[in-house]
Amino acid sequence: MRAFNFSPGPAALPDAVLEQARDELLDYRGRGLSVMEMSHRSKEFVDIAQSAEADLRELLAIGDDYHVLFVQGGASMQFAMVPFNLCRAEDTVDYVHTGSWGTKAIAEAQRLAMVNVAASSEETNFDRVPARETWRLSANAAYCHIVANETIGGVQFHEFPETDAPLVADMSSELLSRPVDVTRFGVIYAGAQKNVGPAGLCVVIVRRDLAGRARPGTPRILDYAVQGENGSMFNTPPTYSWYLAGLVLKWLKHAGGVAEMDRVNRRKAAKLYAAIDASDFYHSPVKTPDRSIMNVPFTLADPALDQAFLDGAEERRLLNLKGHRSVGGMRASLYNAVSEEAVDTLIEYLAAFEADHG
Ligand code: PMP
Repeated sequence: MRAFNFSPGPAALPDAVLEQARDELLDYRGRGLSVMEMSHRSKEFVDIAQSAEADLRELLAIGDDYHVLFVQGGASMQFAMVPFNLCRAEDTVDYVHTGSWGTKAIAEAQRLAMVNVAASSEETNFDRVPARETWRLSANAAYCHIVANETIGGVQFHEFPETDAPLVADMSSELLSRPVDVTRFGVIYAGAQKNVGPAGLCVVIVRRDLAGRARPGTPRILDYAVQGENGSMFNTPPTYSWYLAGLVLKWLKHAGGVAEMDRVNRRKAAKLYAAIDASDFYHSPVKTPDRSIMNVPFTLADPALDQAFLDGAEERRLLNLKGHRSVGGMRASLYNAVSEEAVDTLIEYLAAFEADHG
């Protein structure tokens, strides 16, 4: 029996996807070899790669005026690729700081540009998205960067800001969890290991007019235009991760697409937050309007009970509920592949544990 996996990432994948990968592992559709063993230039793999791109474009209604890239290096590499491609060292870039991943993105950008932190909720321990009217955007910023969903703190933008500069969003822990109007963004990027597929792959959606302007000296492999011109095959791509992402995208289409994911994800998150809010024993540290639908951090009234909580959860096969080491407490990640049954089982456990220890 498969466990209920609340991991923040690498995270749960749909059973149907893993079953299909298992069935095709040794012999991909009669070819007599595994996808892992194929040339990335082979017709079979090029078909896999192109249909993954086509499915992603269809799911998110991505127009031809955007490149869709499948690259390595994770979202962390995008922290550098964004400034390499979108600005020069002397340019000002705006960052809105809503959590730990924003901290990392800012630190990287500071090596490569003049960073203006336009707004931050650090003073209140990243419990919210700063109100738009408090942001101090620069007049001539090359871009404005946000982390759409902070995976560790569980803070999410539920509305995206209008900005004069191109909006750049780290959507690692939310891409494909809900519809998004891609035309609002200059660049969207997402490490795959949450809603898209396994680790090793990062999806980057770049408006074409923003590619081709990389600063002099940018390594070619980090240049959006070079990656785009080469169909993300400037070098050997992470072929097996790309194939698995393709299976996830097919599964998603079959399951009703991102609008359906949004409905189910909202329902899952709403009942978990309701259970937390209904009790004095559990506490959510994030302001209600900015709570994440994907990552639900919560604390126990007495941290001395944390380990007993996690042990009891494991006994019920509720895995990976420990909060990030930087913030402690608990965190349940509710990505697309986390079933409603998993969330119901967690909610039952919350009540049972409170009854025993509250
Ligand atoms: N941004 C966000 C929002 C993340 O959740 C993560 C990973 N958990 C990263 C960036 C870093 O991603 P990677 O490890 O793929 O570089």
